[in-house]
Amino acid sequence: MSISLETLLKKALQEEPLSREEVLCLLNLKEEDEKGKLFETARMLRRRYFEESIFLYGFIYFSTWCRNDCTFCYYRSSNELPLRYRKPQEQVLEVSTTLANSGVHLLDLTMGEDPNYFHKKKGVHILLSMIQEVKKKTGLPIMISCGVWSDEVLDDLVEYGADWFACYQETHNPTLFQALRPLQDYNRRLLAKRSAVQAGMLIEEGILSGVGESLEDVADSIHAMKQMNPHQARVMNFVPQRGTPMANYPFPPPDREQVILAVLRLTLPRRLIPASLDVNGIQGLKGKLKAGANVVTSLIPASSGMKGVAQSELGIFEGQRTVGAILPILEELELKKASLQAYLNWVGKQKQGLFH
Ligand code: SF4
Repeated sequence: MSISLETLLKKALQEEPLSREEVLCLLNLKEEDEKGKLFETARMLRRRYFEESIFLYGFIYFSTWCRNDCTFCYYRSSNELPLRYRKPQEQVLEVSTTLANSGVHLLDLTMGEDPNYFHKKKGVHILLSMIQEVKKKTGLPIMISCGVWSDEVLDDLVEYGADWFACYQETHNPTLFQALRPLQDYNRRLLAKRSAVQAGMLIEEGILSGVGESLEDVADSIHAMKQMNPHQARVMNFVPQRGTPMANYPFPPPDREQVILAVLRLTLPRRLIPASLDVNGIQGLKGKLKAGANVVTSLIPASSGMKGVAQSELGIFEGQRTVGAILPILEELELKKASLQAYLNWVGKQKQGLFH
């Protein structure tokens, strides 16, 4: 390395753009003390823009049906193992209310590309009505994580109350993308996020780690995300899923996710970076917060009957994915749950920025 780690981290702290070589150097850190310095820098940048405040997202996986066959996903269409459900609107409203009352800042309405919603005009209207009712009942910002939609539907989503559009590329290596998301269009998925911004939504981009990517691929993804400048950027470790072609893939080490997360914080210091409870549950949360995350996602009420995505059941029944369960962890790390007003202000400010 031609540049010392200290110099590199100082450069990041001054918010000077990092070169691909510098990003690779950070991704390659092996020593614990070096990674510790990286995480500390990430926390300093988080503090600069968000102080000690952490946002919390409720997760509602309302349909586990999907027409796609992503090789990494438990709910891929050809997997016969998962329990498939399509929750009625009343239940979605009930769970949304429970989450809102528990103090989350946003509701993430998620499904695979369920043909019932995608292929029939009526299906889209059921989704739009669900968004409208959840918004009316809770008043919370809504994120839609429901696949790739036409520009026309994206406009409708905004009209009916969606604030965020999450659509993860998972990798920015088109060849690997094709292996992970067979028969899906790389560019169409990428452009859907641009269309969502034009329609008036904030966007979330994301990558998976441990799915066969090289460190160079990760550096390229980080560069692509810097260019895209999504309002929220996530990395999630891959979890091998039963009944899929990647069932025997090894689990990536937890700190791989943490290092990438910290480099994302250095690259996008003003943006939201989530720590998902969907990978190692509550046990993995501290490491991600220490690496610079400022959102906790995938909160699911214990008795809701809803599933997670990467870990369909982990910690849900035990009530470990609730606001009450994570508050002590925030306190231990000298962090605190942000006020709802702080989140609404942040979202409002970002939305104003969409039109400049
Ligand atoms: S990752 Fe999403 S689109 Fe792909 S199979 Fe799973 S639910 Fe469907």
